[in-house]
Amino acid sequence: MSLSRFNALDTIGNRFGDMEYVDMPTEKIKDFYGENVFGDAAMKQYLDEATYLSVKAAIQGGTKLSREVASLVATAMMNWAQDKGTTHFTHWFQPWTGKTAEKHDSFFTLTYDGKVIEEFSSDALVQQEPDGSSFPSGGMRATFEARGYTAWDPSSPAFIFDAGSGKTLCIPTVFITYTGDAMDYKLPLLKSQDYLNKAAVPVAQLFDPAATKVTATLGWEQEYFLVDEAFYTLRPDLILTGRTLVGKLPAKHQNLEDHYFGSIPERIYAFMRDLETEAHKLSIPLRTRHNEVGPAQYEFAPMFEEINVAVDHNNLLMDLMERVARRHKLVVLFHEKPFAGVNGSGKHNNWSIATNTGKNLLAPGKEPGKNLMFLTFFVNTIRAVYEYADFIRASIATANNDHRLGANEAPPAIISAFLGGTMDKLLNDLEKKGASDASGIKEALDLVSKIPFLEKDSTDRNRTSPFAFTGNKFEIRAVGSSQNCGGPMTVMNTIVAAQLEKFKAEVDKLIADGKEQDAAVLSILARYIKESKKVRFEGNGYSQEWKDEAAKRGLNNFTTTPEALKAWGNKKAEVFIKAGVYSKKELHAFQEVQFHSYMTKVQIESRTLGEMVANLILPAAAGYQKKLADSIVSLKAIGLDESVYSEQLELVKALGTAINGAAAGVKAMTTARRAANELEDVEEQAVAYCENVKPLMEEIRTYCDRLEYLVEDSAWPLPKYREMFYIR
Ligand code: ADP
Ligand code: MG
Repeated sequence: MSLSRFNALDTIGNRFGDMEYVDMPTEKIKDFYGENVFGDAAMKQYLDEATYLSVKAAIQGGTKLSREVASLVATAMMNWAQDKGTTHFTHWFQPWTGKTAEKHDSFFTLTYDGKVIEEFSSDALVQQEPDGSSFPSGGMRATFEARGYTAWDPSSPAFIFDAGSGKTLCIPTVFITYTGDAMDYKLPLLKSQDYLNKAAVPVAQLFDPAATKVTATLGWEQEYFLVDEAFYTLRPDLILTGRTLVGKLPAKHQNLEDHYFGSIPERIYAFMRDLETEAHKLSIPLRTRHNEVGPAQYEFAPMFEEINVAVDHNNLLMDLMERVARRHKLVVLFHEKPFAGVNGSGKHNNWSIATNTGKNLLAPGKEPGKNLMFLTFFVNTIRAVYEYADFIRASIATANNDHRLGANEAPPAIISAFLGGTMDKLLNDLEKKGASDASGIKEALDLVSKIPFLEKDSTDRNRTSPFAFTGNKFEIRAVGSSQNCGGPMTVMNTIVAAQLEKFKAEVDKLIADGKEQDAAVLSILARYIKESKKVRFEGNGYSQEWKDEAAKRGLNNFTTTPEALKAWGNKKAEVFIKAGVYSKKELHAFQEVQFHSYMTKVQIESRTLGEMVANLILPAAAGYQKKLADSIVSLKAIGLDESVYSEQLELVKALGTAINGAAAGVKAMTTARRAANELEDVEEQAVAYCENVKPLMEEIRTYCDRLEYLVEDSAWPLPKYREMFYIR
């Protein structure tokens, strides 16, 4: 058995010699950037001018395209795709599984008299029915009535996915039930964009009458681990759960802190270059690549984009990464905590809002007089985070992320906002001035006019905060690496929009009562600053003191997913319903899907662990135990006394203790799992898995890791952490 591990080591050792690196393009990036996207250039080439202009107008104004225009676009898209050697098309969507989905159809079709033609009708472009599919719908769609529909999202450009030997035209779509309920991440996100636009424009216009559209922007930072394919195939836990369920931390892991920003290993570099080329062809604006803190951990980051396109690009990139890595005999691990004891992976979501007049609403400008606009959006965002923190927490709650939040170098499960020294002080000063009378207002305005230009960047980087202001945007750091950003971004857009609506109503009232605009704005902001103070924290978020302090302040600390997911059923969740982002039915369904996904993930992990113990770990341990016992018997037989084999005897006993511990743990875990499976309600099941099954997995792991330490190296069947971390 252990042979396979050594074979893997051999295979990997030989890779260095005969690794065939893909030829890197010698052209400049600008010469192939976006060549696989039906974007502006392709549209101009394949559409007549009138159609092109109406498509552009529809995208910018968010209006509907007529059937005739859709039909012309469909034909143009097909011609473009066929000129590039594409034979199939698919509607590409983002169901609540968290993974993207697609069902391919050929352009080829037969006419009634048996002639072969190739066509792509407006119907095929606009709407499809991926029937027979069974995606999570939280009970909104009965399985006997398997209908789900995908509908074209023209605001995100179609693209050609060039994988292996096939090329497919992919059309970004939303995924809905027969009655139009969302079953995906995209539709709620689009609705939240709409709502944010409606709420933010009137506020922006208080300061900039020319602003007629507001959009959210997102720049994500994707962390991931890479392991060699040969190791991966020997780890049932990585294959089935994406993380290692057992594995002893080696003496050197990240304790020397020598990996972060270190020089990128040659083989990884080849993967990154290859990936970047593919990404750039798809207009994914990757810009940054580096080593992360954990051994074998890395990061990619793009330039930020309009939020809907940014989310699509992140999903597309994850898919691309998995495929390109395979060309390099590597496997990407997107799991939030693939290895215990070292850093997990997150996906920082840098979020901001901007006007169509080109103003980033969360960046203090160079013109001192204009900063009241910035301050308004800044304070309202913090006020929203204070009010609706539980939904930010709920939107990042997954079985995977539970291992990361609050663990090694990861933000805590308590949602707080870090502002940085300058802004923290400013808000404190404004709070003190109160802005309730004329002199207070004057002093406050004076302070606001002195906000320094913070971009690039004077804010001290507090890496321990889940929600940090970084000079021109907020960085939501607790998002998990494997997650669809659409979930948390929908929450951000919605809660800030709701807050802005409330603010605008208050300002209007004060102005109607005869107050001057600046004074009205400032007095409300001063109150918001006071009200939301509890959510602000500038200190070390990883410390125990913060947990104590947060508890004193009454901030929630939901350390597990089942606890965090409850928020979707709270009274405050009505903010999403009022906003038209989720219907009551959708919200309930979404919550149900999340509970179910949590319990299923832990169930799979628990079953996998049980099997690994039975099939791999105990046999190796018992084999080694027998070897020692045989040795003792031989030593005794030639007349030696116990002083010679006393340590071996101890070892036999220690192995026995760990073997018994692991085996008993698996038995108890199986019983706990059965009991959890019997429960009727999915939330109760999730809780039972969390409270009764998970702790046993931890216990079993401790015995297994002890065995990894005790058993002779050549008998250990699973690739070890030190091998997966350091052998490239
Ligand atoms: P770091 O946080 O590593 O110092 P940067 O501040 O340059 O790096 O940017 C991190 C991410 O934030 C990048 O993806 C970048 O595009 C994004 N970003 C920068 N400005 C904005 C913005 N206005 N809105 C959204 N994301 C932004
Ligand atoms: Mg960052």
